[in-house]
Order: sequence, then structure tokens, then C-alpha cells
Amino acid sequence: MTAAPRIDLHTHSTASDGTLTPAELVRAAADAGLDVVAVTDHDTTAGWDAAVRALPPGLTLVRGAELSCRWYGVESAIPLHLLAYLFDPTEPELVAELARVRLAREVRGERIVDRLRADGIDVSWPEILVGAGGGTVGRPHIAQALIRAGLVATTTEAFGPEWLGERYRLPKEDIEVFRAVALVRAAGGVPVFAHPRATRRGRIVPDELIVELAAAGLAGLEADHEDHSPAERAHVRGLAAELGLLVTGSSDFHGTHKTVRLGAHTTDPEAYERIVAAAGGVTPVASG
Ligand code: AMP
Ligand code: ZN
Ligand code: FE
Ligand code: FE
Repeated sequence: MTAAPRIDLHTHSTASDGTLTPAELVRAAADAGLDVVAVTDHDTTAGWDAAVRALPPGLTLVRGAELSCRWYGVESAIPLHLLAYLFDPTEPELVAELARVRLAREVRGERIVDRLRADGIDVSWPEILVGAGGGTVGRPHIAQALIRAGLVATTTEAFGPEWLGERYRLPKEDIEVFRAVALVRAAGGVPVFAHPRATRRGRIVPDELIVELAAAGLAGLEADHEDHSPAERAHVRGLAAELGLLVTGSSDFHGTHKTVRLGAHTTDPEAYERIVAAAGGVTPVASG
């Protein structure tokens, strides 16, 4: 009997706020003993081709992205992340929406830096852009500038309430979540709600919204994630079972921007097969 395949469906490269290039990421995934890895950079597909070209033998690549979304159903809209798998990266409306969000992230990043500088904190926006290396800009890149300036020691500290977690936190212009689900489906992709219950990251949406999203085309929920407590994981599994949604587990690997390792959490082969069966945009890629 062969061992069950190890499947990690949520990782970031330098195409967004990870620290390994897409090529390094797929090699690291193979070294970590994974059989399937998804590259899911924030709001971009820019890492896909390099990951495909560098794919080591024995590893299957799932091309995906993590979309910055927002639910406007409450007075102060709640941000959430939608993993999108195997969608057509040329679908015009989705392409346009991702480009809009990436641009809005740059505007917001520069505003955060302006606020820091107004308080006498010497961080440089051009330097942060260089640090992002052309990838989708996020707060982890600003965190690196705070570390370089000697103001904090770690990314975790930079996300504390004194810094990017609250005091210097500004909202992004995200994609309305029902529109995101529809766009992903229209592009042949499979939408899965990332870390839906991660209270430690901030406000979370109510279960009633997840019920509505399931009716609107949401395919699954990410249950096993480092930002979920055991009780939160169990709750997500229960909700998924009730709604007939598939359940994933994944590392949300970010290289050295986070401490979690590749394959720290994994997805059952049955759930992975359901994602592949539901997809009609692009296929998983296996190197020969
Ligand atoms: P942004 O997309 O610019 O809002 O930044 C959010 C990114 O920062 C996400 O990819 C998270 O993985 C990462 N992040 C959020 N909270 C933390 C934290 N406490 N420590 C390290 N990284 C974090
Ligand atoms: Zn990230
Ligand atoms: Fe996320
Ligand atoms: Fe992520």
C-alpha cells in the first residue's frame, strides 16, 4: 500500500508576499515531501508560469490565487480571503478585477507609509516597492521595512496593534465577495473560503453568510489552518458537512515572512479530487 498523497493547497511566492520565488517554492514543496502544491499568491497569477517551468518530477502543481474580498453586509465591511483554483487566467473581468485590487494595494501601501512618515518613522515607499520585487504589495513588505529600520524585530511584532495590525492599518479596496465567487466560477475556477474562522486575524463573517455563499457557488472551506484553533477547525468541518462543501487544510506558507512550514496542514485526496473535477479553467500540471 502506498502512502496517501500529501497535498498543500495554499502557498505564497515572491509574486506576492512570500519569500521564495515560484521556482524555489515548487522545489521546496518537493523537498518537503509534497505530492501536490497550489501556488495561491494574493490577487495575481504572475507566478504561475515560472512555477510550471521549474516543476520537479513527481510534484503536481495546482494553479490558483488568493483573492482579497470584502463582505458589505454589515456597517463596517469585513475583509475575507477567497482561494480560487484552476481558473482561466485570461478571463477578462477577473483579470481586470485583480489588476484593480493590485493597484489599490499600492495606493494603500503608500498611504500607510505616509502615515508612518508623518509620525517621524523613517520608512521609504520606493524601497518597499523594490522589496516587493514587482509582486503584489502587502503589509508584510512594509513589515520588512520596519524590521530594516530596527523598529520591530519580527513580522509578527510588525503586525501588532501599535503597528500594521491596528494603528497603521488601512483598508484595501477589495472585491465584493459574491462578485468574486461568480467571477471565479465564470472563469471555470473553484472558490474555497480561506481561514474563514480565524478570529485571531480580526473580525470574521457569520455562518449565515457562508450559507449564502454556498448557495452562490462557493465550493469549500479551509478548516485546517494555523490561524484556526482546534474548536474553530471543528466548527468549520461541521458547517462544511451541513452545507455539502469540501474541506481543505493547508500551510499558507509565506517563506520567512511566517514561521509555518510547507505541508504543516494538508488536504485529503477526496477533497482535492472534488476540486479538480469541478474545475474547467486550467488543469493541474504534473511534470514528466
Ligand atoms: P495585506 O494583504 O496587505 O492586508 O496583508 C496581509 C498579509 O499579511 C496576509 O498574507 C497574512 O498572511 C499576513 N499576516 C497577517 N497577519 C499576520 C501576522 N500576525 N504575522 C505575520 N503575517 C501576517
Ligand atoms: Zn500573504
Ligand atoms: Fe489569507
Ligand atoms: Fe494566504
